[in-house]
Amino acid sequence: MENKQSQKADPESTNTISFAPVVPIPDYLTGQVQSKLAYVDESILSAEVESDQIHLHLDASRLTPQVQSHLEEKVQRVVESMAKGAFKPKVQVLEDYMDREVPYTQDPMPELYSRNEVNQEDDGIYTLGPLLTKIIDYFESLFIDLADSFEADPYRFPTLIPAKELEKVNYFRAFPHSLSFVTHLREDLDVIDNFAQHAACDEHGLNAPDGSFDQVQSLLSPAVCYHLYFALADKPLPGGQVTATAVGKCFRYEAINLTSLERLWDFTMREVIFVGSKDFVLQNREIARQRMEKAFERIGLAYRVESANDPFFIGEFRKQAAFQSAFQLKYEIRASLPFKASTLAVGSYNYHQDFFGRHLNMTLPDGSPAHTGCVAFGLERIAYAFLAQYGFNKSNWPSEVQEVIK
Ligand code: ATP
Ligand code: ZN
Ligand code: MG
Repeated sequence: MENKQSQKADPESTNTISFAPVVPIPDYLTGQVQSKLAYVDESILSAEVESDQIHLHLDASRLTPQVQSHLEEKVQRVVESMAKGAFKPKVQVLEDYMDREVPYTQDPMPELYSRNEVNQEDDGIYTLGPLLTKIIDYFESLFIDLADSFEADPYRFPTLIPAKELEKVNYFRAFPHSLSFVTHLREDLDVIDNFAQHAACDEHGLNAPDGSFDQVQSLLSPAVCYHLYFALADKPLPGGQVTATAVGKCFRYEAINLTSLERLWDFTMREVIFVGSKDFVLQNREIARQRMEKAFERIGLAYRVESANDPFFIGEFRKQAAFQSAFQLKYEIRASLPFKASTLAVGSYNYHQDFFGRHLNMTLPDGSPAHTGCVAFGLERIAYAFLAQYGFNKSNWPSEVQEVIK
């Protein structure tokens, strides 16, 4: 994983410290440990993890002696819980089209800025212009074709998600670091008056009088398919199986890892969701993969599909990640980014076993918990990966894309 430099602090006020991890970090884990360091301390601007050295670039203005003494201990806690006793997951590659020839080798971001195709409102928050929007619409049409091929029922889900529902599916324990909370002012005229008079932003955000905000009842949704499971909870599955599709805004606070269009706080996912027996879910996940393989071939995308794990919080990481790879619960579609000789997940094929069925009491006709799975595509990422491979000269684009995007 590349080093992510925050633009918040000027280089004059940065400090770099380096030290050895308590246990060596195996190569296959360095990227995931590095991405977790974003959440270790507010003074960390960026981090580089090698198997025997950790380098931290720190914001000197936040670095009190107290912070510094605690910092290394917190980093080692991450290393220990992720790397100690970890074993290398067997990466299973289901498709490998990384050697497909593509015409572009540049980073698309500078060109996107110069064409006013992106406007960064804040870290991980972007407005997208007409070209990106048309490319997203094109890819969405492919994903909707996939959904139609399963006769998936269309749904529209809310952007907010209730805290009490996320709690039922263990989200606070698995992914606390990336949650985005929603609140509102307390319904009290004095509180509202006081806020109206004193609310003001500084460079870190909004300052409001203490006690202005109500308790959090709701969050911004981190995924799409949960909403379907909530709708199907506490009853037998209608017809014994459900296939659905929806597009929705998703929110994951990824701290200093929020870079370019690769990793957003506010992004969009299209999902095709299967709920039913184990065989129903696994067979359809596999059929979906094969259909997308044909679609990606038509447009000449360079990518591979390989087994992966979800980015569990540090404390849950080792056990959950090992479980996911052992049972092949997640495969990622990793598109090539030629300009940095690396890959980016543009989608995933997921199987949750009967996890949601058990926690939400969704039942099959025989009374046993339903199994679930989803195919999820990140729309901003697929458009970004397409431009990273095919560039801005439309005459170099695959003919099918040229025909649709004029
Ligand atoms: P990553 O490992 O890159 O963080 P993920 O495993 O968290 O990805 P999923 O939960 O499988 O991602 O989500 C499905 C898809 O949504 C991803 O393949 C990706 O295309 C997109 N996605 C996930 N997180 C982000 C993000 N922060 N910004 C933009 N797109 C994202
Ligand atoms: Zn899903
Ligand atoms: Mg993620």
